Amino acid sequence: MATVNSCPLCHLDTRPVLWQDEFCRVVGVETLDYPGYCRVILNAHVAEMSDLPENDRYRLMQVVLATEEAVRAVLKPTKINLASLGNQVPHLHWHVIPRWPQDPTFPDAIWASSRRLPAVPQIADLWAKLTRSLQERLDYLRQSGCGLHPKA
Ligand SMILES: [Zn+2]
Repeated sequence: MATVNSCPLCHLDTRPVLWQDEFCRVVGVETLDYPGYCRVILNAHVAEMSDLPENDRYRLMQVVLATEEAVRAVLKPTKINLASLGNQVPHLHWHVIPRWPQDPTFPDAIWASSRRLPAVPQIADLWAKLTRSLQERLDYLRQSGCGLHPKA
């Protein structure tokens, strides 16, 4: 199991970065099977949501939900899957996965065996569109004081 010294999420440069602040980052996962698949990664090496103070739990979920909204707005998938596993990399991160009936594993989890060749929508300038959508949502949350900068 990865420790802080061997943890890929602490040390690897994961790209593309769609949005980040001092608390967490949103990165795109380059895959043709699930276009728009994003991960929200806490910057600190923490394993479980319940290890976080209450304000930080809320703050992380605000970013996860803003990411879900951005993915829905840009890609209009049939369904969103949210998952936090961390069995292989116990560093808190959320998967935000757009799903379509034509994707390789629908209706199973994306980690299941493939059922078909994918025929999912491919969108030009996907990461740029998601970045703009995320920026708008997270800027709005920051300006309205809704959890991105919890009171000390
Ligand atoms: Zn880590």
